[in-house]
Amino acid sequence: MPSLRGRMFLHPENGLVPAEITWGDGGRIERIEPTLAANAGPVVLPGFIDEHVHGIGGMDVMDEDPGRFANMSQALAHHGVTGFVATTITAPIDPDLKRVIDQSRTTTRDGMPGASLLGIHLEGPFIDPTFKGAQPESSIIAPTVERARELIGDNSDGWVRLITMAPNMPGAIDVVRWMVSHRVAVNIGHSAATWDIGREALAAGATGLTHFFNAMTPLKHREPGLVGLGLMSAQLWCELITDGIHVRPEVVRYVFQTMGNRVLLITDAMAAAAMPDGDYRLGGWPVRVSSGSARLTDGTLAGSVLTLDQALRNLLRWEVPLSAIVAAISQNPATRLGLLDRGRLAPGLRADMVLLDNDWQVQATLRDGVAIYDAR
Ligand SMILES: [Zn+2]
Repeated sequence: MPSLRGRMFLHPENGLVPAEITWGDGGRIERIEPTLAANAGPVVLPGFIDEHVHGIGGMDVMDEDPGRFANMSQALAHHGVTGFVATTITAPIDPDLKRVIDQSRTTTRDGMPGASLLGIHLEGPFIDPTFKGAQPESSIIAPTVERARELIGDNSDGWVRLITMAPNMPGAIDVVRWMVSHRVAVNIGHSAATWDIGREALAAGATGLTHFFNAMTPLKHREPGLVGLGLMSAQLWCELITDGIHVRPEVVRYVFQTMGNRVLLITDAMAAAAMPDGDYRLGGWPVRVSSGSARLTDGTLAGSVLTLDQALRNLLRWEVPLSAIVAAISQNPATRLGLLDRGRLAPGLRADMVLLDNDWQVQATLRDGVAIYDAR
């Protein structure tokens, strides 16, 4: 049976321990046994999972080319990702969003060469124009159950996993309820919702906040807004972009100190991730990338060029504990997405692993025990 040795992250209390991991033909971990050689081998972490990614390597989820999902899957594997949720931007339901949902569903039947495509995250179109960020305003529409049904059908396979929507728009709370009853998790985001409306959305079944702090109401002492809701509501998952641009490192450190078990590391990456500076598009809209930030022509941040391995290195530099980082990059997103067969290194779970060198650069990525990227 295949196996490998390295310094593994097995339990939050123990940090990295030397061990040998063995897996079977089915790609499931059979056993993990401690070894003596303290410095032998790479660091081994559970595979990274990104629930919010628009593109990488020049490709965008909204493109026409049916091969883009496989190409993104491969590009993401270079950065330690073993699973991703392809994220759309605000666009017309018919034909654009329906085309992306249908194409992704069909291409995935043949399997992905790199990271697993886990489903679709719809960012919009039911968002709030006052907090639109880089989402195109012309395609923002009012939420109705009828439109929701047109968008995702009955979603019986759960392929649409997640939607980002603004609960303060008229009719939105009914749509939150409808989404949850059709296997779609709801993130509040791109929204001017107050604390009270945020609480209503939670009661209707919303479970997360999209890119915490960005494109939402800030915390004020008499109106805690969505940022206050994220900090204080124990049942909310909070997506965080840790490129040092979207949220200041000191704030990121504070978030990990106070609510580390609810953080989901995401990239919100667009096509220019893992590419040189220059002119790109986000869902067809022009974006200029220079010195690590992606912006529309008016200066609005338009996603990021972050990769999850870079997010990990940033957080280590900002002195966030490794145990909190590993939870936020693997286990929390798996739990949030209801994928209980991954997210940790433990017998019986999928052998999804990232091998890193002493500088935390990815050496190899394994999915179900098979290398989907190998630079060794
Ligand atoms: Zn996004």
